Amino acid sequence: MKGKVFLVGSGPGGRSLLTLRAQQVLEEADVILYDQLPGEEILASLPEGAEKVDCGKFGGRHTLEQDEIERLMVSRAREGKKVVRLKGGDPFLFGRGGEELEALREHGIPVELVPGVTSAIAVPGAVGIPVTHRKYASTVTILTGHEDPGKEGSAIDWENLAGNRGTLVILMGVRNLAAIAENLVTHGRDPGTPVAIIERGMRPDQRVTTGTLATIEGVAQERRVRPPAVIVIGDVVRLYREGEPGLVPPS
Ligand code: SAH
Repeated sequence: MKGKVFLVGSGPGGRSLLTLRAQQVLEEADVILYDQLPGEEILASLPEGAEKVDCGKFGGRHTLEQDEIERLMVSRAREGKKVVRLKGGDPFLFGRGGEELEALREHGIPVELVPGVTSAIAVPGAVGIPVTHRKYASTVTILTGHEDPGKEGSAIDWENLAGNRGTLVILMGVRNLAAIAENLVTHGRDPGTPVAIIERGMRPDQRVTTGTLATIEGVAQERRVRPPAVIVIGDVVRLYREGEPGLVPPS
């Protein structure tokens, strides 16, 4: 008997945004390895019968190291089990899903990808900020703000990003917000460029904070903005209307 691993995206939060395939594989799972990002509602509803392992990877806390997670997936699959690796949003956007795919392939374990609704597009969209718009932005770049923008030999080409008039969507960027905004301005982006931060998007307690590249750090400090949050930078943010009816989080 051969086991299988499902790399599953949970969407940005809330059971209503799980795909039908994600629900099905969760119901049939023998083992579920999860992170905290899928949020309380989804985590509280995981099936009772399955072995559940909290991999605890969110906001820098690690319960299990990445190689331990990979080893566990491989060993449970070798026991013939159906293993679900559940991640927030889509598994292949900043979730180390790509590395897990490589590790599973190396060990000859069958893998199925179950895509999820990514927070990078859905979270701004749900508050009325489309990441592209014919008038405002024809390209969108999704980047991690996890890396310290001041570091030498950054993997992110800030000059290119600052010179680009498209939308920037930053995940994991709250801690480095000041450095990110400063870096973009230093490299030539207009300090008046609008910015929105959406905390806990598409969840009942979501909150939106707006400003410009010049002001956002001060506003975020004042309002004590915390992860998880999506940061959107660019003219599409002009479409945001506070409290607009019809664009409330799903209940
Ligand atoms: N694979 C995920 C992203 C993982 S990185 C996806 O496709 O959405 C984790 C980051 O995603 C968080 O730090 C935050 O920036 C963002 N994020 C995920 N869910 C979110 C939510 N409901 N609200 C706001 N930000 C969210």
